[in-house]
Amino acid sequence: MDFSSTLPPQVTLVVPVYNEEPSNLRLLLERVALVLEPALIFYEVLFVDDGSKAKTHDALKELADEFDYVRVIVLSRNFGEIPAICAGLAHSRGEAVINMDSDLQDPPELIPTMLQYWREGYDVVFTRQASRKESVPRQFLAFAFYRLLGAFSSVKIPVDAGEFRLLSRRAVNAVCATPEKAKFLRGLIPWIGFKNTIIPFDRDERKFGDSSYTTSKLLQLAVDGLVAFNMQPLYFIPVLGCVILAGGCLGLIFSAFSPQIILGMQLSLVSLLLAVAGAQVACTGVLAVYLAEVLKETRARPTYIVAEEFGKNVVKADHSLNSDGAINSELSR
Ligand code: UDP
Ligand code: MG
Repeated sequence: MDFSSTLPPQVTLVVPVYNEEPSNLRLLLERVALVLEPALIFYEVLFVDDGSKAKTHDALKELADEFDYVRVIVLSRNFGEIPAICAGLAHSRGEAVINMDSDLQDPPELIPTMLQYWREGYDVVFTRQASRKESVPRQFLAFAFYRLLGAFSSVKIPVDAGEFRLLSRRAVNAVCATPEKAKFLRGLIPWIGFKNTIIPFDRDERKFGDSSYTTSKLLQLAVDGLVAFNMQPLYFIPVLGCVILAGGCLGLIFSAFSPQIILGMQLSLVSLLLAVAGAQVACTGVLAVYLAEVLKETRARPTYIVAEEFGKNVVKADHSLNSDGAINSELSR
């Protein structure tokens, strides 16, 4: 791959990395080269080191020294996969940008098909996980999450579509230009519109190491998704309030006409009171979740902070795109 020209690459692969096994990273580069080099595609691989420990960090440094087409952005700490992807998008230079995991669960062999759609004029190419080689509880959670999200979202979110996708340059710019800090990409990307398609694939097993997604991280992702593109719980609260009010009025009417019935129902009344109190606390809980999201947005803290950037072809990033408030603490050469 000749990087002597100053032309930006045609394709950027954005790969978030958190404590990944070095063998995964090297194998990923090998498999990517096997599919892209014969097709004469001028590409760069942009690893985003999301606060990894020394073993992964050093491996990335080694790869950037060895391969001209590797660039690395190092975040100042672990911010999470989505902020890491956003950092990658904001620093990408390609006309098409493909996001993929660093653990080889997203097969590089699908990239030529994605690029084919892009050449035909598609701005967004989603991929759908037709099958997943994961534990049964994890598969069930993913299944439930996508269906729940799909049932209530204000935008049509493709079912079983993860973060492995292609975006055209204008789609990347549109995503980066959205002012919200907490970018729920699985909803935001369908929301930006443009011509899109979805291709199915069989999701492989992670090659080496373990998933860094803990249950609490997964739950946070689910809450982010449900809150970002779904106002139904908020609208449900007044409806529930009206139902309870109507029930209370009916009870009053009954007690006015036949007090002996109500006296006989004392036990049920206690249960009813508990149910109403429970509903009130649950509704306050829903408000609290939304309030927390509003608080996060109004604080407007950056979603990630770049500590350093390395690679032979590091260029100054276009900070005008960093509308998510990213801070680059070290300017690249
Ligand atoms: N990742 C990251 N930051 C995190 C967690 C994960 O950048 O805090 C990266 C990770 O290195 C991988 C991708 O995000 O490239 C997906 O993570 P993982 O494989 O652990 O998730 P899973 O595939 O199990 O959902
Ligand atoms: Mg994975």
